[in-house]
Amino acid sequence: MKKCPSPLIWQAVVDGEEEGAQYTAHLEHCPICRAVYRDIREAAELAGRLRCDAALRPNFAAAVLAQARSAPAAPFPAGLVALLLYAVAGAAALLLDPGYWSWWLSVGITRSCSLLMDVLFKIIYLGQSFNPAWLIGPALLLVLLEIAVLKKLTEVEEC
Ligand SMILES: [Zn+2]
Repeated sequence: MKKCPSPLIWQAVVDGEEEGAQYTAHLEHCPICRAVYRDIREAAELAGRLRCDAALRPNFAAAVLAQARSAPAAPFPAGLVALLLYAVAGAAALLLDPGYWSWWLSVGITRSCSLLMDVLFKIIYLGQSFNPAWLIGPALLLVLLEIAVLKKLTEVEEC
C-alpha cells in the first residue's frame, strides 16, 4: 500500500466493515495512520460506553401525542389585528383636523415630493432634448446584454 488510507477507511476498519492484511501491515510501519486508527478506535469505544439500557415507558409516545393534542398552538389572530388597524386608521382619519389634512394634501405632499418631481421633470426635459436614436441605441445594447446573460444562465443550468 503506497498511499495512506483515508480516515473513512480506518473508520470502516474499526467498524469491521473493511478487512484486509494490507491494513494491518500498513499500521505496523506508518505512525500517522496508527495515530488516526487509535483515535477512531478510542472514539468508537467511548461511543459504545455511552449506550445504556434505559428505555422509555411503553406509553410515552401516546402521552406526548395526547399532551400535544390537548394544547394546540393558537393561530395568529390576523383578522383581529387587521380589524384593529382598520379601526385605528379610521379613527385617525376622523379625528385629524381637516385644516391640517387639506394643508398636508396641498403643501406637505408637494414639499416632500418636490425633489422627486424635479427629477421627473428633468428626465422628461432630457428625453425631449434627445434624438430618439440616442435612446434606441442604449436600449438595444441592454436587450443584447440581457440575451447574452440569459444564454449564459442557460449554459450554467445545463451543467
Ligand atoms: Zn499511513
